[in-house]
Amino acid sequence: MAEAQIIDGKALALTIRTELSKKVAAIPLKPNLAVVLVGNDEASLIYDRNKQKAAQAMGMDCEIYHLPENVAEYELLELISQLNNDTRVNGVLVQLPLPKHINTQNVLMQINPEKDVDGFNPYNVGLLQANSPKAMVPATPKGVLYILKHFCSDLSGKYAVIIGRSNIVGKPMAALLLNQNCTVTIVHSKTQNIEKIVQQADIVIAACGKPQVVKADWIKDGAFVIDVGINRVDGKIYGDVDFENVCKKASYITPVPGGVGPMTIAMLLENTFDAFIRQNHLDV
Ligand code: NAP
Repeated sequence: MAEAQIIDGKALALTIRTELSKKVAAIPLKPNLAVVLVGNDEASLIYDRNKQKAAQAMGMDCEIYHLPENVAEYELLELISQLNNDTRVNGVLVQLPLPKHINTQNVLMQINPEKDVDGFNPYNVGLLQANSPKAMVPATPKGVLYILKHFCSDLSGKYAVIIGRSNIVGKPMAALLLNQNCTVTIVHSKTQNIEKIVQQADIVIAACGKPQVVKADWIKDGAFVIDVGINRVDGKIYGDVDFENVCKKASYITPVPGGVGPMTIAMLLENTFDAFIRQNHLDV
């Protein structure tokens, strides 16, 4: 079996962003994204600044609202209300995780579903489950689906196994693939004989946050392997997949870094643009 084709997520994301910036240049107003960050987590701060830079690079406005770690829940809800009511703002996202004293579900439910560019409000979660085209789809699984569709002409009937059941990646990924007529299994930390299940899969999506846990002998010859994981070990970044060895079994594989990560920001910006278009009743 030949080595897997390594998917260049950076190049794919650049194509999407270039197309999007042309669309942004063609509309009269700038789409506007509000990013709410609570506390001083260094990684979140860097991640939000990257989102801001990427948005600005394509002609969008993006403001970061930075609140202290000890902010009261009602103050955060009040800020979201203000952003919901501000007609200049098209997209609102709250960086997760939030400090323990804040109820995340209360916060996500406060975001106007039309501005919910992360797609985590239960209203959008429901629309995705119902396979509605109006659903705002979470950026990371949306980026994974984009990669799969780009390289695989027909997903219908494929057996997909997703490792991880988070609300951010695993569950929306399962809904998206079901909506594409895949047969889908989610495995998680309590699943028995994971490798036996993964060995059956045509498509493997690793999103468990455990460095290099997915081994070559878990992978069927020719499977499509997507690695969502980002794990920092001794200052180096690893995915959830044993990349070097899985490359010898898979047909396609995403690297970490440079695979799914760049697609996530591109999809977030696409969601912000789509929110702008819908709110302004434009047709592009
Ligand atoms: P999460 O909320 O921690 O969820 C991890 C999931 O994996 C849980 O469902 C957990 O099971 C399951 N799991 C943990 N260890 C496992 C194991 N050994 N075998 C099978 N399942 C296991 O994480 P997340 O937010 O979904 O993120 C997953 C990974 O993707 C992380 O590395 C994160 O940094 C990365 N990520 C990357 C991007 C990107 O843009 N590339 C975006 C988001 C997340 P239980 O439910 O039983 O605990």
